Amino acid sequence: MKRFFSLLLGIASLVPVLPVSHAQTPASEGTQLLAPPYIRPETARLVAEGVWVIPDLRTRFVPNIGIVEGRNAILVVDVGMGPRNGQLLWEHARKVAGQRRIYFTSTHFHPEHNFGASAFDPATIILNRAQAEELKEKGEGYLKLFKGFGAVERKALEGTILAKPGLTYSGSMHLDLGGRMVELREMPAHTRGDQMVIVEDSRVVFMGDLLENRFFPIMPDADAKGAQWIGVFDKVLALKPAIVVPGHGEVSDITLVQTVRSYLVDVQREVNARAKRGMAQDAIIKELTPRLAALHPDWDEALWIPYQIAIFYSEATGKPVSLPDLTKDLQR
Ligand SMILES: [Zn+2]
Repeated sequence: MKRFFSLLLGIASLVPVLPVSHAQTPASEGTQLLAPPYIRPETARLVAEGVWVIPDLRTRFVPNIGIVEGRNAILVVDVGMGPRNGQLLWEHARKVAGQRRIYFTSTHFHPEHNFGASAFDPATIILNRAQAEELKEKGEGYLKLFKGFGAVERKALEGTILAKPGLTYSGSMHLDLGGRMVELREMPAHTRGDQMVIVEDSRVVFMGDLLENRFFPIMPDADAKGAQWIGVFDKVLALKPAIVVPGHGEVSDITLVQTVRSYLVDVQREVNARAKRGMAQDAIIKELTPRLAALHPDWDEALWIPYQIAIFYSEATGKPVSLPDLTKDLQR
């Protein structure tokens, strides 16, 4: 059951919350399951000139947060969930910004990336339209869902107000921070509204949950896409990024994108071959899940593998996505 210990990293499956084991994994190695989901701005570090990351420290429901500085403005990328995280980040951002303007954007609508955004002035919040619409459609449901995960999550999310963006765009947008251009680019696959943030001069790319470091790719609901996700990785590789910031896990480089891409290509190939032979989805999940998990024994969140198989199975067969019941899987 070890693979399920770090259940529910930054996701929204519809499974009930299961008792979490108090496995004695050193905090530096495993996910910090029991830590409250609060960001730690004092741990911010530079990954390039004027580009900061507040690391997630592998804490459950905490994302990697970015701050990009320009001469006239700074851009904050992702926030952590709930009002306290919003406040912590707003205060930190104001210190960094000084007299400069502050912009905020989130890589996608999920709670730990966006649900603290109301601490920022609505006038400064920029979202791609697809993300704004997905937030509007699914936001309240996700708030309820995440509050149900446990007492610390409920406390963190108490009083959450879903913030509306002051500015939206479609496709791509270039933001001039003063002597520094940042591109916001839509690249849906993990959700309907993912966007990446590309710092053009230092080639730092913030990928949100399109990329995780030492977590299996999170396909949280039927809106996740498989082949399209591989296409996202191809586009990122073409950018030749110097530094890649995942949604969760350690900051990395292009090699992480290659590794996760090749994992998804494996999933796709193995699922396609079995679907072609007429194997049913359930049988494929049963046979393939342990084999895929064994490819990366040091990755957490293997519970997403059946969802990955279901998404690729739907794409291979043209049938609607039918997500397996994780509850049964977990009880096995
Ligand atoms: Zn997410």
